[in-house]
Amino acid sequence: MRKTDTQRFRKLLLEEKERVGASLARHEKIIAHTDDQSGLETGKAHSNHMADQGSDEFQYETTIKFANKEGRHLYNIEEALSRIEDGTYGKCLGCEQQIALPRLRSLPYARLCIECKEKEEAGTL
Ligand SMILES: [Zn+2]
Repeated sequence: MRKTDTQRFRKLLLEEKERVGASLARHEKIIAHTDDQSGLETGKAHSNHMADQGSDEFQYETTIKFANKEGRHLYNIEEALSRIEDGTYGKCLGCEQQIALPRLRSLPYARLCIECKEKEEAGTL
């Protein structure tokens, strides 16, 4: 890969990292806030708040799931950035071939080429 390409992907990854980091921080705040509230609610009677509580818990779980997903996403971005640093960026971790540039443009943190990704999803890698 040309150095100019690597630099461009590095920039894309850094921007994405910032975006995901901010989104993650927001969700962590919501999660912490929900924890506070459930602490305050503990002394109250449960019966008349069942419905509300259910949807709160649903919201809480959705938020946690989303935060986990974003967390994994952030991890993938950081991995890609460290591959840029050690010069292995853009190489498929499955077959060690160069990942096609159009794929990297739409998915700068891709670890696998399309063929290997399909194999991974089919469970045959
Ligand atoms: Zn591959």
